[in-house]
Amino acid sequence: MDPFQYVRAESVGQAVRVLAEHPRAAVIAGGTDLTTLMRDRVRRPSHLIDLGGLALDTVTARPDGGLRIGALCRNATTDARIARDFPVLVEALRSGASPQIRNRATFGGNLLQRVRCPYYRQPEFDCNRRDPGSGCAALAGDSSRHAILGTSGSCVAVHPSDCAVALQALDAEILVRGPRGERRIPIDAFHRLPGKAPQREVALRRDEIVLAVEMPPRAASAHSHYVKFRERASYAFALASAAVAVELRGGTVRSARIALGGVAPKPWRAKAAEQALRGRPLDDDAIDAAARAATRGATPRPDNTYKVRLAQEVVRQALTELGGA
Ligand SMILES: Cc1cc2nc3c(=O)[nH]c(=O)nc-3n(C[C@H](O)[C@H](O)[C@H](O)COP(=O)(O)OP(=O)(O)OC[C@H]3O[C@@H](n4cnc5c(N)ncnc54)[C@H](O)[C@@H]3O)c2cc1C
Ligand code: SF4
Repeated sequence: MDPFQYVRAESVGQAVRVLAEHPRAAVIAGGTDLTTLMRDRVRRPSHLIDLGGLALDTVTARPDGGLRIGALCRNATTDARIARDFPVLVEALRSGASPQIRNRATFGGNLLQRVRCPYYRQPEFDCNRRDPGSGCAALAGDSSRHAILGTSGSCVAVHPSDCAVALQALDAEILVRGPRGERRIPIDAFHRLPGKAPQREVALRRDEIVLAVEMPPRAASAHSHYVKFRERASYAFALASAAVAVELRGGTVRSARIALGGVAPKPWRAKAAEQALRGRPLDDDAIDAAARAATRGATPRPDNTYKVRLAQEVVRQALTELGGA
């Protein structure tokens, strides 16, 4: 690990100021991802701004009936309002990592964790995301766990967060603060597709920090569920996952939001699958149509074609289990 200057933030304003003043500064929350990357010299911040003392660790009700979840709330949250209104979010959080890591990991850090592509995490390999313009070792190497949707010739890594996939299905917003004040970023715009600049992973600016995740009122997500397929029963990232949130009226789907994890460089909103459900009863035919539509536009690599079927199956399972709820 390279030397760095430690700064214990006394206020959000101070944290933002230090970020703005030092181009290579980084904030640290739970540290479960950043410290590993620093140890392996993938990231080399000049200043480490510790957010741990800031009052960003509470869940509060919003006037419109939604919730504001502070960026420092832990992934092991037991808040009863989150569990009651947004079951898909709790299911996604509990499917991630291990109890010890969830006790330490925060909402903000989870959204901003870096990709798990092994080539990204080992500096001896070429990686456009880590070292722009150097190339992509995965394209000539093992891409069996990589993306089938939203890829580019520059990067085929998958986004790792389970929580972010659930937030996609719930239409959450991310509240951030920088030198110019606060702004809200819709979750769909928060993570970016790689295009020609995979190093620009998020819409968050370099001098901004995440303050909270803003959850809308629960109506549209009354029925929600998360299904994750992974190589081990715990302690493993998704090979494919699906978060579904469906609003039913008189047995008919009024609106649906479906997001995929483990198959794209960002939490992937499957709009064609949502369209396939709208106005129909949540029966086997509609679920089958949605599952097939979920991977529309997929461009798998020779070693990960299996993910097309897997993604369809997690959507099918999530909707089927929801229908029976
Ligand atoms: C063995 C293992 C298994 C795992 N399995 C899973 C899994 O299955 N599913 C899953 O989703 N995750 C998994 N994770 C990842 C884990 O959930 C993340 O490491 C964790 O959520 C990161 O949160 P943190 O608070 O520790 O972030 P940190 O490590 O402190 O920070 C991560 C990044 O976020 C930035 N950051 C943190 N907070 C803020 C903020 N408020 N504003 C701006 N930037 C911020 C940091 O600068 C850094 O870039 C796993 C991790 C490990 C080690
Ligand atoms: S897939 Fe992306 S993260 Fe992995 S080596 Fe290629 S550029 Fe880097």
